[in-house]
Amino acid sequence: MEAVTPMQEVLDHINATIGQNPDRGKTASYIPDLANVDLNQFGIAVCLADGREFHAGDALTPFSSQSVSKVFAVALALGKVGDGLWSRVGREPSGLAFDSIMLLERENGRPRNPFINAGAIVTTDTYLAGSTPKEALGGLLRFVRDAAEDSDIHINDAVARGEMETADRNFALAYYMKSHGNLSHDPQLTMGTYCHQCAIDMSCVQLARAGRFLLGGVKGLGPRLVSKTRARRIQALMMTCGHYDGSGDFAFRVGLPGKSGVGGGILAIAPGKASIAVWSPGLNSYGNSKLGTEAMEALAKAQDWSVFN
Ligand code: GLN
Repeated sequence: MEAVTPMQEVLDHINATIGQNPDRGKTASYIPDLANVDLNQFGIAVCLADGREFHAGDALTPFSSQSVSKVFAVALALGKVGDGLWSRVGREPSGLAFDSIMLLERENGRPRNPFINAGAIVTTDTYLAGSTPKEALGGLLRFVRDAAEDSDIHINDAVARGEMETADRNFALAYYMKSHGNLSHDPQLTMGTYCHQCAIDMSCVQLARAGRFLLGGVKGLGPRLVSKTRARRIQALMMTCGHYDGSGDFAFRVGLPGKSGVGGGILAIAPGKASIAVWSPGLNSYGNSKLGTEAMEALAKAQDWSVFN
């Protein structure tokens, strides 16, 4: 039998090779707080189902979770309205950029999935029902903190403000869906909540811990936050839609459900085995972390992790 390299060695190696690659992609440019992040950073963290944790590189540095937060938002919305969510948003990959408006007109204001911006805005609008934005965001933060077992997870106000000031296209998506009766609140309220949701900061270690709610059965982790069925479904969405028009490529290269954000973070799950977070702020042409994707590919290969085993 082949000897298995210890996890810490695998992560250190990934950090020393892929993490130092000079070809790092480009940071998101739409707000200074993302554009000015040091491109040379790289972190990776793994929480195994047996409770052991490992990390390497800048894994304790907080970064903007951006669209990775959509994983927690959809869990919260499903907790609130259950399958009712699916009357407002679909479960199909869009094959288009995360902020595309194209399919919305053809499909009468019902976004393809909860991980593209339009679908995430509807998801936010769903968990916002019956509360103020502050209460709703409090509920979301509580979910993330409970999942990570860490109360030191916060919303970055400067990022939230920047998001709001540059959200013209997201507002367009929100108003368009409102015209089709698929937005319950004033777009200003829903978008304010959505922009704060995108601005949750987490380190790789915090994100990997938060992702354990999808893993199930993690040693030492408290009661399940979502049912097994729901966790499976969220992972199915991550697999098919988590990287936008790059989802097929991520599935092909990594073989694990994952969700990316323009802050350069990726959360991936090796079902039953591990929750993995990686961060490198430079993005590829799909708006997904360039080195993050490469690191996930290398880690999955080294551990022989794949949903297709
Ligand atoms: N805040 C970004 C937006 O709404 C999030 C997009 C992303 O991370 N892909 O456009």
